[in-house]
Amino acid sequence: MTDGNLMPVVSNETLSELEKPEAGPRRTTSLSSRRSPLAEPRCQIRALEAVDLDNVPSAGNFDAAITKSPSGALTAVGVEIFQINLGKLCNMTCRHCHVDAGPDRWREVMSREAVDDCLAALDRTQAHTVDLTGGAPELNPSFRYLVDQCVARGKHVIDRCNLTVLLLPRQLDLPEWLAERGVEVVCSLPHFRRRNTDAQRGDGTFEKSIKALRRLNEAGYGQGDEDRRLTLMVNPIGAFLTGDQCSMEREWKRGLESNHGVTFDRLVALNNMPIARFLEWLEKSDNLQIYMELLVNSFNPATVAGLMCRNTLSVSWDGRVYDCDFNQMLDLESRTSDGARRSIADFDPREFEGREIVTGRHCFGCTAGAGSSCGGAIHDTAE
Ligand code: SF4
Ligand code: SF4
Repeated sequence: MTDGNLMPVVSNETLSELEKPEAGPRRTTSLSSRRSPLAEPRCQIRALEAVDLDNVPSAGNFDAAITKSPSGALTAVGVEIFQINLGKLCNMTCRHCHVDAGPDRWREVMSREAVDDCLAALDRTQAHTVDLTGGAPELNPSFRYLVDQCVARGKHVIDRCNLTVLLLPRQLDLPEWLAERGVEVVCSLPHFRRRNTDAQRGDGTFEKSIKALRRLNEAGYGQGDEDRRLTLMVNPIGAFLTGDQCSMEREWKRGLESNHGVTFDRLVALNNMPIARFLEWLEKSDNLQIYMELLVNSFNPATVAGLMCRNTLSVSWDGRVYDCDFNQMLDLESRTSDGARRSIADFDPREFEGREIVTGRHCFGCTAGAGSSCGGAIHDTAE
């Protein structure tokens, strides 16, 4: 395991480019910088466990719900997607962030040594896709090195991009750079209307996001080219489930093209996970009970076969191994079939074959309605 937090990995020049969160009703800061108790994963798990769900199906016990589903158990089928969280550093501080990312999280950034450990581990798997996330993964100094290494290995690479990062002076060439390498860009944009997006991500974010989308379009993204795929990821702005993905895609395509001349290839709709800053918002707005009941009551057994934890391995900035990004944020490490934890430096895929996925109440966020893994809604309801 790396000790990457002893020395700052990110340069002062990069840090000086990042926005400092301003005061105001629409701005927030990380739980970590506010020393909120919810910055501690155990405190988040306790908050979820404390919700009274005795009167909903399975009494809010996710494992019991899975046992009753046709799948019967939640086990891994192999590592097809190798997800690397390059750190919690981000140029934004969105209110719903499940990572609790922000400009102040510069200590939690993956070192080059850990990046190389990931590449060595990747070579031991059959993964066809490398999914780069953060924070803003592009802010990690090893981001371009890692992309090149993955492309050289013939992997499909996904950059989970918040759009506004593309406008930072040191990232201006990034759209063309990614396009040349055939990297899929998966962009988060809460809504195609300014007011809704700014409410969740901060004033001015919508304007910047549109500018960044235009830059991506100019680089060839979002025009039906498989090697320049531009995906938008959207999530509800409030304590409700995401809408129908297909009709949203049609509506968004119309709205963005006619109002802003922007195109994209596909839309993925996700539910918000009741963790980190979204959990804080649920608590403060008195919506936690309602939202958890909604998630549990909306449990859809057809989503279980497609949960991302079944075919994904998720590595944290400090080289620990998880079943998914959400478990990573709750510090619920993946276990080998013998129940042991491993760092990515010691990763042997054979030890993780058929492992039981580590679960908790937050998992209801993935199985509610049409589902909410990184791939978005599940349309094929066959098990
Ligand atoms: S939601 Fe994404 S863009 Fe917003 S703070 Fe979190 S990591 Fe950054
Ligand atoms: S939160 Fe993670 S472990 Fe739980 S169901 Fe979702 S993807 Fe699987």
